[in-house]
Amino acid sequence: MSAHFDSDKLSSPLAGKVAAAARLLADIADAHAPAVFANSLGAEDMVLTDLILRVGLAIEIFSLDTGRLPQETHALMQDIRRHYGLRLKLFYPRHDLIEEYTANHGINAFFDSVELRRACCQVRKVEPLRRALAGKQAWITGMRAQQAPSREALPLRQFDATNGLMKFNPLVEWSEQDVWAYLRGTGVPYNALHDRGYPSIGCAPCTRAIAAGEDLRAGRWWWESADTKECGLHRSPLVTLGTSTQANIDEGDVKARSTGRSQSADTKECGLHRIPVSVRTTLPENADESMLAAALRSA
Ligand code: SF4
Repeated sequence: MSAHFDSDKLSSPLAGKVAAAARLLADIADAHAPAVFANSLGAEDMVLTDLILRVGLAIEIFSLDTGRLPQETHALMQDIRRHYGLRLKLFYPRHDLIEEYTANHGINAFFDSVELRRACCQVRKVEPLRRALAGKQAWITGMRAQQAPSREALPLRQFDATNGLMKFNPLVEWSEQDVWAYLRGTGVPYNALHDRGYPSIGCAPCTRAIAAGEDLRAGRWWWESADTKECGLHRSPLVTLGTSTQANIDEGDVKARSTGRSQSADTKECGLHRIPVSVRTTLPENADESMLAAALRSA
């Protein structure tokens, strides 16, 4: 399926990025079915939502409702339904795990320690994400390299060994200005909190507005040091697969290697993408994704 986009309202460089992202999404839909888009309902994710829905790509769109989201994020879900007619697929935490966490630690225990914060993210985000990705061939995120120091090495495509599928970041090279030029140029709905100083939006108790000059993700888990700040959805090591924008991957050109993230970068993600060192060190230089998956299964 080819993606057609009216670029009249966009600058030439941005129109090129839009066309590349649309082509990649179409390739993913064709080459990695069933593919899913994990829509975090942030500004970047609304760009991807629009690119997927405007041409009707066969990519399921889902979101995680942690039970602690801001009202503005729920309002955006309704806006998406009105704007696109999309019945957004929602995944919720398991009630038994929430009950166990709150009984043992308290309703707001994530303020007490990094470990308890990560445990909350595990129950409310990571476990539901794993269910959402089960049986899928690829997932797509709206992550950008410029969002945070922990994402500087973010590649366009990776093998997510933890969940056993490909992971694509089509907006990896987009700037914040690109995202907002797209949203404003196309009239795509977005979270009202963005206009109140929230560039990055997660759960209500764990997100605040930022001041001028602060890092874009400074408002997430603001009480923690910068090097612990990720929720677990994107923290585990991934295998970067080339640099091509093509979704089709020739087995022979796959060079599995770690992403080379710094230690602080690793601590700033949520844990869904780690490959155990014991597995990584047994893999040959030219390991492809099926070899990696087999090694993980037998580990
Ligand atoms: S962002 Fe906060 S409330 Fe949401 S899952 Fe993580 S720790 Fe829990």
